[in-house]
Amino acid sequence: MAHLVRVGFGWVVVVAVLSACGDGDAGRPRTACEMTLEAMGIGYAPAEPQAGVAEPVDVTVPIAGIAYRGIDGLRETFFMDCPLAVALGRAASVFSDHEVVEVADFGVYNYRCIGEGTPPDCPMGISQHAFARAIDVAALVTADGTSFSVNDDWVIDPDPEATCEALTEGAADTFLHAVSCDLHAAGVFNLILTPNYNDEHRNHWHCDLTPDVLAIL
Ligand SMILES: [Zn+2]
Repeated sequence: MAHLVRVGFGWVVVVAVLSACGDGDAGRPRTACEMTLEAMGIGYAPAEPQAGVAEPVDVTVPIAGIAYRGIDGLRETFFMDCPLAVALGRAASVFSDHEVVEVADFGVYNYRCIGEGTPPDCPMGISQHAFARAIDVAALVTADGTSFSVNDDWVIDPDPEATCEALTEGAADTFLHAVSCDLHAAGVFNLILTPNYNDEHRNHWHCDLTPDVLAIL
């Protein structure tokens, strides 16, 4: 790239030498996770570093055919840690099996403790949201336009019953149990917290990648 720059009464040509880039847009080699995204056909761009996030990416939405709607409307990109993007890519086939085309979410990245507070002083541990490895799912929309709301349609199961063994009440509750339990059975997320878990999860499923666990509560 050449630029003409005026110096005194004459012109000189300044040649700008572009620095050599690495493999990724951010000038660094792609990670194994990013290569997995590419193999899955999921679009992304390396994202700016953020506290707590090991492999930050801006994922192109829809993700494997599933739209995501945040509080401000339909998302075009979605910031998260790369392994969560892989999980959402896998979740897409479960969603599609149930004709889900859109997920309404309460977000992914939030640098906070479990409960309250800011890391690293977290009496109950660091939230997976601080690592951008958790998504809060508030509702699902199917191809015919029907919306299933966790807050309005999930009926809390009696205490001793396991979430995926409990009897459901009505079509919408049955649908939400079926999708969440299929996500669990597919091992898409390591931990899913439903309204059964506690009051703080009355209006969403918290789905995360907590290590060394595979549970739906
Ligand atoms: Zn959450």
